[in-house]
Amino acid sequence: MSQSEQQSGDDARTGQQIECRRCGRKQGLVGKYDINLCRQCFREVARDMGFRKYS
Ligand SMILES: [Zn+2]
Repeated sequence: MSQSEQQSGDDARTGQQIECRRCGRKQGLVGKYDINLCRQCFREVARDMGFRKYS
């Protein structure tokens, strides 16, 4: 038995499906900052926000 409810991972959540709020994609989502963006959109948005950790 492995119950993981208090894990530090947003994709461990069940019940609510997250999708990119920018393109609506459900693959490769980045739930690191609760931004609900896929990796592609995150790169663009992050670049706009000043993030430069996705190289
Ligand atoms: Zn996207």
